[in-house]
Amino acid sequence: MSEILIRGAKVLGGAVQDVLISGETVTAVGAALEAPGATVVEAAGHILLPGLVDLHTHLREPGREDSETVLTGTRAAAAGGYTAVHAMANTFPVADTAGVVEQVWRLGKESGYCDVQPVGAVTVGLEGKQLAELGAMADSAAQVRVFSDDGKCVDDAVIMRRALEYVKAFDGVVAQHAQEPRLTEGAQMNEGTVSGELGLTGWPAVAEESVIARDVLLAAHVGSRVHICHLSTAGSVEIVRWAKSKGWDVTAEVTPHHLLLTDELVRSYNPVYKVNPPLRTEADVVALREALADGTIDCVATDHAPHPHEDKDCEWAAAAMGMVGLETALSVVQHTMVDTGLLDWAGVADRMSARPAAIGRLAGHGRPVAPGEPANLVLLDPAYRGVVNPAGFASRSRNTPYEGRELPGRVVATFLRGRATVMDGKLT
Ligand SMILES: [Zn+2]
Repeated sequence: MSEILIRGAKVLGGAVQDVLISGETVTAVGAALEAPGATVVEAAGHILLPGLVDLHTHLREPGREDSETVLTGTRAAAAGGYTAVHAMANTFPVADTAGVVEQVWRLGKESGYCDVQPVGAVTVGLEGKQLAELGAMADSAAQVRVFSDDGKCVDDAVIMRRALEYVKAFDGVVAQHAQEPRLTEGAQMNEGTVSGELGLTGWPAVAEESVIARDVLLAAHVGSRVHICHLSTAGSVEIVRWAKSKGWDVTAEVTPHHLLLTDELVRSYNPVYKVNPPLRTEADVVALREALADGTIDCVATDHAPHPHEDKDCEWAAAAMGMVGLETALSVVQHTMVDTGLLDWAGVADRMSARPAAIGRLAGHGRPVAPGEPANLVLLDPAYRGVVNPAGFASRSRNTPYEGRELPGRVVATFLRGRATVMDGKLT
């Protein structure tokens, strides 16, 4: 059995330890471990965390392989320190049957870079009219537990209620893209001072908050689980905080870009900043950071949304919404949460690994770094400083809002069940 000895890493940012991996498992954690014949990874000054888990990734396959495939997306995930990603259902065809989710699940297995857990659509064709085969997807080889029409909101309250009731049978969760459609018709950016000055149609905070308020009430009413995708406003934080104070089974995610960027960037008219939900205000960013720190927001999810050059390099109104995020997420979280003192590395492990794995009911991920646990790990160098260069991305797409921006931290190695998918900062 092959052995890897990670020597002198700060486990979860705490004590300096050696970590021995034998085969697929962590077999020892301690000081001055001896392992003759093991491959040694020198990790002085580096942080060791459980492999990251993303609840919200668009891998685009099947149907839009010009922007990303399961293989290129999982390579990007590994490069970013991820060992598991949830693949969103808005593919072509839509992942609304057992057949499609099993296809995505198998492609993930074949990739070998990162576990791929398919998300099933809530409604047939993401059309919001008729429930998809939720039970069949749950019973399939992919064992789907997260269901979402992401990209579109499940806006019909009766359909949402039925979905919440249905998923209880197999401990599933409905992940809502909260966007009241009538309030956001033709929306191009956050509704506020900047949209008024630029004359662009606004996407008001209330369009997100009203759906979240309805859905936490619905989830409480039927006793089910609801997860809020890419929460983006201070008002949404208040609603989730209130719902949690009632003891309701409500969880929420925030994207890295909503922790850092604001709608002021839209003044550039650079479509790389066009995203759904839109970049909000500085006050929203502050509220989101505080909510992630205090646990009101459970986790960071990338909403990695690759788009080909021709869909982003055009005039603002015509551009597709979305940003790639897998390869920069950890750096943005270090910059916004760790280097600001809001969260320590153990907190990062919780918000980017343990909690998303728990929400997705994903066994084998988000586990402690301890003997007997699966060796899904990421080793990072927090002292590294570098300028983001999308030419070096493993993703097939380049639509990052951070090009040319200096961000801290670098993934040095990623281990998927004891096998290095990244070593010395490079994909294996
Ligand atoms: Zn979405």
